[in-house]
This record gives sequence, structure tokens and C-alpha cells, in this order.
Amino acid sequence: MMNHEPLIIAVTSDFAGKVRGKAFAETEFEKRLQRGVGWTPTNVQITCFDSIADSPYGALGDLVLIPDPATLVKADFGDEAPSEQFVIGDILQTTGEAWECCTRSILKAALARLEAKAGLRLFGTFEHEFHFVDADCPLGSAYTSAGFRAQRQYAEALFAALRAAGLKPDTFMKEYGVDQYEATIGPVEGVAIADNAVTLRELVRITAERTGRTASFTPLRDPSGVGNGVHIHMSLRNSDGKPATYDPDGPHGLSVPAAQFVAGVLKYLDRIVAITAPSVVSYTRLTPHRWSAAFNNLGYRDREASVRICPMSDLSDVDEAEQYNFEFRAADAAASPYLALAAIVHAGVQGIEDQLVCPDATEQDLTLLNDDALAAKKIVRLPLTLASALDTFAGDATVKGWFPPAFAGIYAAHKHGEIGYLENKSEAEICEAYEAVY
Ligand code: GLU
Ligand code: MG
Repeated sequence: MMNHEPLIIAVTSDFAGKVRGKAFAETEFEKRLQRGVGWTPTNVQITCFDSIADSPYGALGDLVLIPDPATLVKADFGDEAPSEQFVIGDILQTTGEAWECCTRSILKAALARLEAKAGLRLFGTFEHEFHFVDADCPLGSAYTSAGFRAQRQYAEALFAALRAAGLKPDTFMKEYGVDQYEATIGPVEGVAIADNAVTLRELVRITAERTGRTASFTPLRDPSGVGNGVHIHMSLRNSDGKPATYDPDGPHGLSVPAAQFVAGVLKYLDRIVAITAPSVVSYTRLTPHRWSAAFNNLGYRDREASVRICPMSDLSDVDEAEQYNFEFRAADAAASPYLALAAIVHAGVQGIEDQLVCPDATEQDLTLLNDDALAAKKIVRLPLTLASALDTFAGDATVKGWFPPAFAGIYAAHKHGEIGYLENKSEAEICEAYEAVY
């Protein structure tokens, strides 16, 4: 190896869902935990395409990105190249308060609200789909062992890197789409759920780079194909760590607070989807018959529901109450995991505060119902475009009120900047643009 000095990059996951940061010498790690690295407010308006959207900050201001040592990852592949080291942080004002656009601080506030209002903690994990660009897995390999073998070396390197990072690698499989794979990790509590999603995405990319591949998490690669979904599995725990989601006598086995939480997520879904599925192509993925989510419906073992109650198995070694979880499917990797989870948690806590009643799970193809039949079930079609999703978000004072006061306007300006960049591009060109940046 060439002479080198090990560096660690302190990173943030921002409005574009990008992981950006600044590197420092490994020898200064302890000092940087206090001092952080400098950060610029307008960076939050850099879109996924590197254009800068309207920013209230202009060229002004200074912030600090303070690493959280619990998130430090050292990925050593045992090869010639230096280890990849990164650490996730919080963006603070120089006075020490959380910055209004720090996504990780926004999630911490949402989790604190869940604990304060309901005495509950969130337990969960993100399930990710992605594909390899320029791979050529033969036709007919969906879910096959041959499709898996085509990437066994990759998968084994990825599992080693995940485990070394302190995550619990769970499964890896050849998904249905062209060159599409899925990687899952075990659940954890609190802000670490989103930290681990960032770490997994980074390690999927890093492992790809180390092995001469390119991985993409774009929400939709091909307008006629299936998308890369992010499915967020969640359950609730009491402050003593005991599972609090399952009640065999509750609706679909949901406990009282879990049913209210799910009801809140469903009620506010059309208003938060601008945050959980925030790209232009997200809205082509969120259409019926793609195994994603097109309506704000609850499903029981149904892969076309926005919130799905996941199966439990009598055969598992894990206790039923521990297994029981629900999955949010209207998310993708254009979203910062912190913002997506914050929006879902706030919607859930609102459901608990307002003691909302959980709707029945749907058991049919909702595209066959007319508007009246949908309205009778209180089901709405999710917004059809990012622009309309942003309007739906902007139109709800309750939802905007869950975030710091400046958030809604800055977020909308960011996303409109992204939409502007894509003006006059065809659907295929837009898909290509997103595939290149995610
Ligand atoms: N690829 C689908 C999506 O866009 C999900 C398929 C599955 O259920 O795993 O969410
Ligand atoms: Mg899948």
C-alpha cells in the first residue's frame, strides 16, 4: 500500500437522502467528538443532482457536525486498499442547539415525543432493495439460487462488513427485478434504526465499489419495471424494553397503542409521502400492481398495502410478541432514513394522542373500487406526483407543526429545485438521472 494516513469521514444524511461529510485524521477522533467538523447551512439545499435549490441561508452561517461515536464504522476488506471509515453525526448550531435541518435531530425529537406522550420506544429495521448497474444476471433468475450465486462473493463480503460494523446481517436474496437484490438486517431500538439504514446503504455501495460493481437504490430504474422499495419494519416497546405491539384480542393482533399508531400513519400517509418517497420517480413506483403501495391501506400479509402486518410463524424460536411487527412500504432510498422515520413516528404518535381507530385491513384489489367505495372505507389514492405530494404536505398545518418551524418551507424549496432540474426530460431520462445518483 502507498504511504497513507487513515482518515475518518464524519457524515450526515440530508434532505436529498445523500450521505455527505468531511474527513479528518483518525488520530484526532477524540477531539472531533467534541469539536466536530465545520458545516455550511446551504449544503442542505444541494439536490441529488448537485444543483442548489433556493436557500434561505445563502452564503451565510456556520454549523458543526458532531460525530456520534456509537455509529463509527470501519470497513476493512482485507485487501490492498485502505479501510473505509465513517461516523454519523448531528448538525448543531455553534451554540450547541440542534440545527433545524439536521435530519438526525429531527428523528430524535420524534422519538422523544413517542416516549413522552405514550411511554413507548420504537424498535425496527429498514429492509432495502437495490440493483447492480451493468450486471447481467440471466433472465429467469428471480428469487433463484442461481441469481444468488451470481452475487455470492459480493453477499459474503457485504455480510462480513455489516457484522464488523455491529449490524446483524439477516438475509440476502435475488429479488424479482432485473439484477435486483434485497438485503435485510436485524432490528434495533431508537435512532440506531435509521443509523443502521445509512450504514447498510453505505456498505452496500462500498462493497460494490471494492468488487468492481455499481449498486443503485433508485426508487425506479425502468418505468415498466418494479421499483427498489424500502420497507420499514416497526414495533413498539415499553420503557422497560418489553414488546408492546401484540395483543391477540386486538384488531389484527395489534395492541391499543399499536393500533392507534398504525391508524395515525394511515391517516396522515398522503401528507407525509413527500418525505418518505421524495423523488419524482417515486410516484411511478407507488402505482398499483407493482407490489409497492398506492393507497393508504392496511394489509394483512398483503404486499400491496402501505402498512402491512407482517406474518408470525409458530415455528420460530422467537416469541410471538417479539416477532410481531408492521411494515411501512411507501418509502424508498431517495429519502433520508431519519426524515422518513421521523414523519412516520410523528404520524403514529398523533394517532395515539388522538386515539384514532385502526381501519380494517383491505383484502381486495383497490383499483377495482370506485371513488365512492374507496371513500366509504376512508381510503385515498396516494398523490400521483411529487409536486402534488408536496402540496398535500404543505396544506396540513398539523403535519408541518411536527417539524421545526423553518423545515417545511426549506424542504419544499429543495424538492422543487430537484423537480426543476428534471424539466423537459423524458420519463426514461428521468429514470436514468436517478439511477446515476442513487
Ligand atoms: N419491489 C417492491 C417495491 O417496490 C417490493 C417487492 C417485495 O414485496 O419485496 O416495494
Ligand atoms: Mg423485497
